[in-house]
Amino acid sequence: MGRWFWVKVVGNFLNLSTVAGLVVGVIGRARFSRGPRGLVFANGYKVKFPMAGAFTIGNVVLSKHEQAYFDDEALVRHEERHSWQYFCLIGLPLWPLYVVGVVISWVLTGDPASRNPFERLANLKDGGYVERPIQSFGQTLAQTFSVLRSRPKEP
Ligand SMILES: [Zn+2]
Repeated sequence: MGRWFWVKVVGNFLNLSTVAGLVVGVIGRARFSRGPRGLVFANGYKVKFPMAGAFTIGNVVLSKHEQAYFDDEALVRHEERHSWQYFCLIGLPLWPLYVVGVVISWVLTGDPASRNPFERLANLKDGGYVERPIQSFGQTLAQTFSVLRSRPKEP
């Protein structure tokens, strides 16, 4: 990759996605540190949404976990690929497109990542995802309702 990451550092700053990532990190009371290749790590993120081990906004990789979580180089590469997706889509237009990807993936497989083009391009396995087979929509609906039913009630 050489020095190309500097193009992305500048691009994601100008398209405001990195700025959005920093604001979200501040709101989530995360601790910031420097990651590799121009990435910014934001650990100890305190907001419950989104429900992921790690997620990326611009060049900022956020996680509710401690910094040791990013010792997983495959995971960092996965999140870094998402940061290139922000660059390619000129920032936050990624969000609505990502949601479309989640819906397509859920309809086809009952899983939000397996057929989501953004997660596939970032490498499912590096992101810790298991590829689910395509299934009938009836099966997906039955699966979703059983998950909703089995969810414990909040006190
Ligand atoms: Zn991902």
